[in-house]
Amino acid sequence: MTKREKSPYRRLVVKIGSNVLTRQDGTLDITRICSLVDQLAMLHAEGIECIVISSGAVAAGRSELPGGRKLDSVSARQLFSAVGQAKLINRYYDFFRERGIVCGQVLTTKESLSTRDHYLNQKNCMETMLRSGVIPILNENDTISVTELMFTDNDELAGLVSTMMGADALIILSNIDGIYDGNPGSGEAQLIREVYPETSDLARFIRTERSSFGRGGMLTKSRIARKVAAEGIEVVIACGRRDGILVDLAAGKEVPCTRFIPSEHPVSGVKKWIAHSEGFAKGIIHINQGALEALTGPTATSLLPIGVVRVEGDFDRGDIVRIVGPEGEPIGVGQVSTDSIHAAQTAGRKGLRPLIHYDYLFLD
Ligand code: GLU
Repeated sequence: MTKREKSPYRRLVVKIGSNVLTRQDGTLDITRICSLVDQLAMLHAEGIECIVISSGAVAAGRSELPGGRKLDSVSARQLFSAVGQAKLINRYYDFFRERGIVCGQVLTTKESLSTRDHYLNQKNCMETMLRSGVIPILNENDTISVTELMFTDNDELAGLVSTMMGADALIILSNIDGIYDGNPGSGEAQLIREVYPETSDLARFIRTERSSFGRGGMLTKSRIARKVAAEGIEVVIACGRRDGILVDLAAGKEVPCTRFIPSEHPVSGVKKWIAHSEGFAKGIIHINQGALEALTGPTATSLLPIGVVRVEGDFDRGDIVRIVGPEGEPIGVGQVSTDSIHAAQTAGRKGLRPLIHYDYLFLD
Protein backbone atom coordinates (compact mmCIF):
# COMPACT_ATOMS: atom_id res chain seq x y z
CA MET A 1 0.00 0.00 0.00
CA THR A 2 1.47 3.38 -0.96
CA LYS A 3 1.24 6.41 1.32
CA ARG A 4 -1.36 8.01 -0.94
CA GLU A 5 -3.61 4.99 -0.52
CA LYS A 6 -3.51 5.06 3.28
CA SER A 7 -6.55 3.26 4.56
CA PRO A 8 -9.43 5.20 6.09
CA TYR A 9 -10.07 2.23 8.39
CA ARG A 10 -8.63 1.76 11.88
CA ARG A 11 -10.58 -1.35 12.89
CA LEU A 12 -11.95 -3.97 10.52
CA VAL A 13 -13.97 -7.13 11.00
CA VAL A 14 -13.30 -9.62 8.20
CA LYS A 15 -15.62 -12.60 7.82
CA ILE A 16 -14.28 -15.40 5.65
CA GLY A 17 -16.86 -17.89 4.40
CA SER A 18 -16.39 -21.66 4.09
CA ASN A 19 -16.59 -21.43 0.31
CA VAL A 20 -13.63 -19.08 0.18
CA LEU A 21 -11.50 -21.48 2.19
CA THR A 22 -12.53 -24.75 0.56
CA ARG A 23 -11.80 -26.27 -2.83
CA GLN A 24 -14.45 -27.92 -5.00
CA ASP A 25 -13.62 -31.32 -3.48
CA GLY A 26 -14.20 -29.95 0.05
CA THR A 27 -10.56 -29.87 1.12
CA LEU A 28 -9.04 -26.74 2.69
CA ASP A 29 -7.58 -24.32 0.15
CA ILE A 30 -4.25 -23.70 1.85
CA THR A 31 -3.05 -21.31 -0.86
CA ARG A 32 -6.11 -19.14 -0.29
CA ILE A 33 -5.65 -19.09 3.49
CA CYS A 34 -2.02 -18.15 2.98
CA SER A 35 -2.95 -15.31 0.63
CA LEU A 36 -5.59 -13.97 3.02
CA VAL A 37 -3.13 -14.11 5.92
CA ASP A 38 -0.62 -12.21 3.73
CA GLN A 39 -3.19 -9.50 3.18
CA LEU A 40 -4.25 -9.36 6.83
CA ALA A 41 -0.56 -9.08 7.77
CA MET A 42 -0.23 -6.08 5.43
CA LEU A 43 -3.19 -4.38 7.06
CA HIS A 44 -1.80 -5.20 10.50
CA ALA A 45 1.52 -3.60 9.49
CA GLU A 46 -0.44 -0.50 8.46
CA GLY A 47 -1.77 -0.27 12.00
CA ILE A 48 -5.27 -1.48 11.13
CA GLU A 49 -6.76 -3.66 13.86
CA CYS A 50 -8.27 -6.77 12.26
CA ILE A 51 -10.73 -9.19 13.80
CA VAL A 52 -11.27 -12.32 11.74
CA ILE A 53 -14.39 -14.48 11.77
CA SER A 54 -13.44 -17.65 9.96
CA SER A 55 -15.82 -20.40 8.92
CA GLY A 56 -14.53 -23.59 7.36
CA ALA A 57 -14.16 -25.80 10.44
CA VAL A 58 -16.97 -28.18 9.54
CA ALA A 59 -15.86 -28.37 5.90
CA ALA A 60 -12.23 -28.96 6.92
CA GLY A 61 -13.21 -31.71 9.36
CA ARG A 62 -15.49 -33.43 6.86
CA SER A 63 -12.71 -33.69 4.29
CA GLU A 64 -10.45 -35.19 6.95
CA LEU A 65 -12.91 -38.00 7.75
CA PRO A 66 -14.26 -39.20 4.41
CA GLY A 67 -16.72 -42.10 4.31
CA GLY A 68 -16.79 -43.50 7.81
CA ARG A 69 -19.76 -44.13 10.02
CA LYS A 70 -23.25 -42.81 9.36
CA LEU A 71 -23.93 -39.98 11.81
CA ASP A 72 -26.92 -37.80 12.57
CA SER A 73 -26.47 -34.16 11.61
CA VAL A 74 -25.73 -32.88 15.13
CA SER A 75 -23.09 -35.53 15.82
CA ALA A 76 -21.57 -34.95 12.39
CA ARG A 77 -21.34 -31.18 12.99
CA GLN A 78 -19.76 -31.76 16.41
CA LEU A 79 -17.26 -34.29 15.10
CA PHE A 80 -16.28 -32.38 11.96
CA SER A 81 -15.96 -29.04 13.72
CA ALA A 82 -13.84 -30.52 16.53
CA VAL A 83 -11.38 -31.94 14.01
CA GLY A 84 -11.67 -29.13 11.45
CA GLN A 85 -11.29 -26.23 13.89
CA ALA A 86 -7.98 -27.65 15.14
CA LYS A 87 -6.77 -28.02 11.58
CA LEU A 88 -7.95 -24.54 10.56
CA ILE A 89 -6.52 -22.63 13.50
CA ASN A 90 -3.19 -24.43 13.13
CA ARG A 91 -2.93 -23.15 9.57
CA TYR A 92 -3.75 -19.61 10.60
CA TYR A 93 -1.39 -19.79 13.55
CA ASP A 94 1.55 -21.00 11.45
CA PHE A 95 0.96 -18.58 8.59
CA PHE A 96 0.64 -15.58 10.92
CA ARG A 97 3.66 -16.70 12.91
CA GLU A 98 5.78 -16.86 9.75
CA ARG A 99 4.89 -13.18 9.31
CA GLY A 100 5.79 -12.29 12.90
CA ILE A 101 2.19 -11.93 14.06
CA VAL A 102 0.45 -13.71 16.94
CA CYS A 103 -3.16 -14.76 16.46
CA GLY A 104 -5.53 -16.18 19.05
CA GLN A 105 -8.61 -18.36 18.87
CA VAL A 106 -11.99 -17.22 20.23
CA LEU A 107 -14.72 -19.85 20.10
CA THR A 108 -18.09 -18.58 21.13
CA THR A 109 -21.74 -19.55 21.30
CA LYS A 110 -24.89 -17.54 20.99
CA GLU A 111 -25.62 -18.24 24.63
CA SER A 112 -22.32 -16.75 25.73
CA LEU A 113 -23.35 -13.43 24.20
CA SER A 114 -26.91 -13.52 25.42
CA THR A 115 -26.68 -11.24 28.45
CA ARG A 116 -25.15 -7.80 28.54
CA ASP A 117 -22.54 -8.99 31.08
CA HIS A 118 -21.43 -11.86 28.85
CA TYR A 119 -21.38 -9.52 25.89
CA LEU A 120 -19.17 -6.98 27.69
CA ASN A 121 -16.91 -9.77 28.91
CA GLN A 122 -16.43 -11.05 25.36
CA LYS A 123 -15.79 -7.51 24.16
CA ASN A 124 -13.22 -6.99 26.90
CA CYS A 125 -11.43 -10.19 25.90
CA MET A 126 -11.08 -9.07 22.31
CA GLU A 127 -10.07 -5.51 23.24
CA THR A 128 -7.27 -7.02 25.34
CA MET A 129 -6.15 -9.18 22.43
CA LEU A 130 -6.11 -6.21 20.05
CA ARG A 131 -4.24 -4.01 22.54
CA SER A 132 -1.63 -6.78 22.80
CA GLY A 133 -1.22 -6.87 19.02
CA VAL A 134 -2.94 -10.26 18.75
CA ILE A 135 -5.34 -10.94 15.86
CA PRO A 136 -8.51 -12.61 17.19
CA ILE A 137 -9.83 -15.43 15.00
CA LEU A 138 -13.41 -16.25 15.89
CA ASN A 139 -15.76 -19.05 15.07
CA GLU A 140 -18.90 -20.40 16.61
CA ASN A 141 -18.08 -23.28 18.94
CA ASP A 142 -19.94 -25.82 16.84
CA THR A 143 -18.82 -28.72 19.05
CA ILE A 144 -20.93 -27.50 21.98
CA SER A 145 -23.53 -25.20 20.38
CA VAL A 146 -27.07 -26.32 21.02
CA THR A 147 -28.86 -26.54 17.68
CA GLU A 148 -31.86 -24.41 18.70
CA LEU A 149 -29.58 -21.73 20.09
CA MET A 150 -27.08 -21.47 17.27
CA PHE A 151 -26.25 -18.42 15.20
CA THR A 152 -28.01 -18.60 11.85
CA ASP A 153 -24.48 -18.61 10.42
CA ASN A 154 -21.18 -16.79 10.88
CA ASP A 155 -22.55 -13.73 9.07
CA GLU A 156 -24.81 -13.21 12.08
CA LEU A 157 -21.86 -13.63 14.45
CA ALA A 158 -19.79 -11.22 12.32
CA GLY A 159 -22.57 -8.61 12.47
CA LEU A 160 -22.76 -8.88 16.23
CA VAL A 161 -18.98 -8.65 16.63
CA SER A 162 -18.75 -5.62 14.31
CA THR A 163 -21.15 -3.61 16.43
CA MET A 164 -19.75 -4.96 19.68
CA MET A 165 -16.22 -3.91 18.72
CA GLY A 166 -17.21 -0.61 17.10
CA ALA A 167 -15.58 -1.59 13.78
CA ASP A 168 -15.23 0.97 11.00
CA ALA A 169 -16.30 -1.66 8.51
CA LEU A 170 -17.33 -5.28 8.18
CA ILE A 171 -16.00 -7.09 5.13
CA ILE A 172 -17.87 -10.29 4.28
CA LEU A 173 -15.81 -12.45 1.94
CA SER A 174 -17.84 -14.90 -0.09
CA ASN A 175 -17.26 -16.79 -3.34
CA ILE A 176 -19.11 -14.15 -5.38
CA ASP A 177 -18.50 -10.42 -5.90
CA GLY A 178 -21.67 -9.34 -4.11
CA ILE A 179 -25.41 -9.05 -4.76
CA TYR A 180 -26.61 -9.11 -8.38
CA ASP A 181 -29.85 -7.73 -9.77
CA GLY A 182 -30.60 -11.13 -11.33
CA ASN A 183 -29.11 -14.59 -11.70
CA PRO A 184 -25.32 -14.05 -11.53
CA GLY A 185 -24.80 -17.06 -13.81
CA SER A 186 -26.96 -15.61 -16.60
CA GLY A 187 -24.30 -13.19 -17.80
CA GLU A 188 -26.84 -10.38 -17.94
CA ALA A 189 -27.19 -9.61 -14.25
CA GLN A 190 -25.41 -6.54 -12.94
CA LEU A 191 -23.60 -6.31 -9.64
CA ILE A 192 -25.40 -3.96 -7.24
CA ARG A 193 -22.58 -1.63 -6.22
CA GLU A 194 -24.21 0.35 -3.45
CA VAL A 195 -27.09 -0.18 -1.07
CA TYR A 196 -28.34 2.84 0.87
CA PRO A 197 -30.18 2.73 4.22
CA GLU A 198 -33.35 3.75 2.38
CA THR A 199 -33.03 1.14 -0.43
CA SER A 200 -36.21 -0.86 -0.06
CA ASP A 201 -36.55 -3.58 -2.70
CA LEU A 202 -33.27 -5.45 -2.31
CA ALA A 203 -34.76 -8.80 -1.21
CA ARG A 204 -36.43 -9.43 -4.56
CA PHE A 205 -33.02 -9.65 -6.28
CA ILE A 206 -31.58 -12.16 -3.91
CA ARG A 207 -31.42 -15.81 -4.74
CA THR A 208 -32.29 -17.96 -1.79
CA GLU A 209 -30.13 -21.03 -2.29
CA ARG A 210 -27.33 -21.51 0.20
CA SER A 211 -23.64 -21.73 -0.53
CA SER A 212 -22.46 -25.33 -0.81
CA PHE A 213 -20.18 -25.62 2.24
CA GLY A 214 -21.44 -22.91 4.60
CA ARG A 215 -24.69 -22.50 6.52
CA GLY A 216 -25.53 -18.99 5.28
CA GLY A 217 -26.67 -17.50 2.01
CA MET A 218 -27.01 -14.11 0.36
CA LEU A 219 -30.31 -13.43 2.10
CA THR A 220 -28.83 -13.57 5.62
CA LYS A 221 -25.78 -11.67 4.40
CA SER A 222 -27.90 -8.81 3.13
CA ARG A 223 -30.18 -8.81 6.18
CA ILE A 224 -27.20 -8.63 8.53
CA ALA A 225 -25.45 -6.09 6.30
CA ARG A 226 -28.45 -3.76 6.40
CA LYS A 227 -28.75 -4.02 10.16
CA VAL A 228 -25.05 -3.31 10.70
CA ALA A 229 -25.10 -0.40 8.21
CA ALA A 230 -28.12 1.03 10.05
CA GLU A 231 -25.91 1.07 13.12
CA GLY A 232 -23.42 3.32 11.33
CA ILE A 233 -20.92 0.68 10.18
CA GLU A 234 -20.03 0.23 6.52
CA VAL A 235 -20.48 -3.32 5.21
CA VAL A 236 -18.88 -4.73 2.08
CA ILE A 237 -19.71 -8.07 0.47
CA ALA A 238 -16.88 -9.12 -1.84
CA CYS A 239 -15.25 -12.17 -3.36
CA GLY A 240 -12.54 -13.63 -1.14
CA ARG A 241 -11.01 -15.46 -4.09
CA ARG A 242 -9.97 -12.24 -5.82
CA ASP A 243 -6.27 -11.66 -5.39
CA GLY A 244 -5.47 -8.75 -3.09
CA ILE A 245 -9.15 -8.08 -2.32
CA LEU A 246 -8.64 -7.10 1.33
CA VAL A 247 -5.72 -4.80 0.65
CA ASP A 248 -7.57 -3.15 -2.22
CA LEU A 249 -10.75 -2.68 -0.18
CA ALA A 250 -8.84 -1.29 2.78
CA ALA A 251 -7.07 1.17 0.48
CA GLY A 252 -10.43 2.36 -0.84
CA LYS A 253 -9.75 1.08 -4.40
CA GLU A 254 -12.59 0.49 -6.85
CA VAL A 255 -13.14 -3.27 -6.82
CA PRO A 256 -16.23 -5.31 -7.70
CA CYS A 257 -18.29 -5.57 -4.53
CA THR A 258 -21.61 -4.59 -2.94
CA ARG A 259 -21.18 -1.77 -0.44
CA PHE A 260 -23.80 -1.00 2.21
CA ILE A 261 -23.55 2.69 2.96
CA PRO A 262 -23.69 3.32 6.73
CA SER A 263 -26.46 5.38 8.26
CA GLU A 264 -25.46 8.84 9.39
CA HIS A 265 -27.45 8.45 12.58
CA PRO A 266 -25.91 5.50 14.39
CA VAL A 267 -27.46 4.23 17.60
CA SER A 268 -25.98 3.82 21.12
CA GLY A 269 -23.96 0.82 22.32
CA VAL A 270 -26.75 -0.75 24.34
CA LYS A 271 -29.18 -0.31 21.45
CA LYS A 272 -26.71 -2.08 19.17
CA TRP A 273 -26.60 -5.04 21.51
CA ILE A 274 -30.40 -5.06 21.68
CA ALA A 275 -30.62 -4.88 17.88
CA HIS A 276 -28.69 -8.15 17.60
CA SER A 277 -30.53 -9.82 20.46
CA GLU A 278 -33.71 -10.91 18.73
CA GLY A 279 -32.58 -14.51 18.84
CA PHE A 280 -32.28 -14.36 22.66
CA ALA A 281 -35.82 -13.04 23.18
CA LYS A 282 -37.57 -14.63 26.16
CA GLY A 283 -41.05 -13.32 25.39
CA ILE A 284 -43.36 -11.35 23.13
CA ILE A 285 -45.18 -8.10 23.90
CA HIS A 286 -48.30 -7.53 21.81
CA ILE A 287 -49.09 -3.84 21.43
CA ASN A 288 -52.16 -1.94 20.26
CA GLN A 289 -52.55 0.44 17.32
CA GLY A 290 -52.02 3.54 19.48
CA ALA A 291 -48.71 2.26 20.80
CA LEU A 292 -47.66 1.21 17.30
CA GLU A 293 -48.28 4.73 15.99
CA ALA A 294 -46.49 6.30 18.95
CA LEU A 295 -43.43 4.04 18.61
CA THR A 296 -43.10 4.40 14.85
CA GLY A 297 -43.90 8.13 14.85
CA PRO A 298 -41.37 10.93 14.44
CA THR A 299 -40.55 11.40 18.15
CA ALA A 300 -38.58 9.02 20.34
CA THR A 301 -41.11 7.19 22.53
CA SER A 302 -40.94 4.51 25.21
CA LEU A 303 -43.37 1.60 25.32
CA LEU A 304 -45.86 2.21 28.14
CA PRO A 305 -48.05 -0.46 29.79
CA ILE A 306 -51.17 1.27 28.41
CA GLY A 307 -50.12 0.24 24.89
CA VAL A 308 -49.69 -3.43 25.84
CA VAL A 309 -52.47 -5.84 24.89
CA ARG A 310 -50.95 -9.17 25.81
CA VAL A 311 -47.73 -10.63 27.20
CA GLU A 312 -46.35 -13.99 26.09
CA GLY A 313 -43.52 -15.99 27.61
CA ASP A 314 -41.74 -16.12 30.91
CA PHE A 315 -39.16 -13.37 31.33
CA ASP A 316 -37.35 -11.46 34.05
CA ARG A 317 -36.48 -7.80 34.35
CA GLY A 318 -33.60 -7.01 31.95
CA ASP A 319 -34.47 -9.78 29.50
CA ILE A 320 -34.95 -9.20 25.80
CA VAL A 321 -38.44 -9.43 24.32
CA ARG A 322 -39.86 -9.09 20.84
CA ILE A 323 -42.55 -6.50 20.19
CA VAL A 324 -45.34 -7.27 17.73
CA GLY A 325 -48.13 -5.07 16.39
CA PRO A 326 -51.93 -5.60 16.31
CA GLU A 327 -51.64 -7.87 13.24
CA GLY A 328 -48.81 -9.87 14.76
CA GLU A 329 -46.29 -7.96 12.64
CA PRO A 330 -42.74 -7.66 14.05
CA ILE A 331 -42.02 -4.14 15.32
CA GLY A 332 -38.72 -4.51 17.11
CA VAL A 333 -36.94 -5.75 20.21
CA GLY A 334 -36.35 -4.25 23.63
CA GLN A 335 -35.07 -4.86 27.13
CA VAL A 336 -37.89 -4.96 29.69
CA SER A 337 -37.95 -3.03 32.96
CA THR A 338 -40.01 -5.67 34.76
CA ASP A 339 -40.82 -9.40 34.73
CA SER A 340 -43.54 -11.12 32.71
CA ILE A 341 -45.95 -11.48 35.65
CA HIS A 342 -45.89 -7.78 36.45
CA ALA A 343 -45.98 -6.85 32.75
CA ALA A 344 -49.15 -8.94 32.30
CA GLN A 345 -50.76 -7.46 35.43
CA THR A 346 -50.15 -3.87 34.27
CA ALA A 347 -51.05 -4.41 30.59
CA GLY A 348 -53.47 -1.71 29.41
CA ARG A 349 -53.10 0.42 32.57
CA LYS A 350 -52.55 4.17 32.48
CA GLY A 351 -49.97 6.37 34.18
CA LEU A 352 -47.27 3.75 34.85
CA ARG A 353 -43.55 3.87 34.09
CA PRO A 354 -42.38 2.50 30.71
CA LEU A 355 -42.26 -1.24 30.19
CA ILE A 356 -39.45 -0.64 27.70
CA HIS A 357 -37.62 2.66 27.85
CA TYR A 358 -36.75 4.27 24.52
CA ASP A 359 -33.01 3.83 25.22
CA TYR A 360 -33.53 0.07 25.40
CA LEU A 361 -35.74 -0.25 22.37
CA PHE A 362 -34.68 -1.13 18.84
CA LEU A 363 -37.30 -0.85 16.13
CA ASP A 364 -37.00 -2.87 12.89
N1 GLU B 1 -19.11 -22.39 12.08
C1 GLU B 1 -19.20 -23.10 10.83
C2 GLU B 1 -17.84 -23.67 10.44
O1 GLU B 1 -16.83 -23.24 10.91
C3 GLU B 1 -19.64 -22.22 9.68
C4 GLU B 1 -20.98 -21.58 9.83
C5 GLU B 1 -21.35 -20.84 8.55
O2 GLU B 1 -21.34 -21.46 7.49
O3 GLU B 1 -21.56 -19.64 8.59
O4 GLU B 1 -17.79 -24.54 9.63
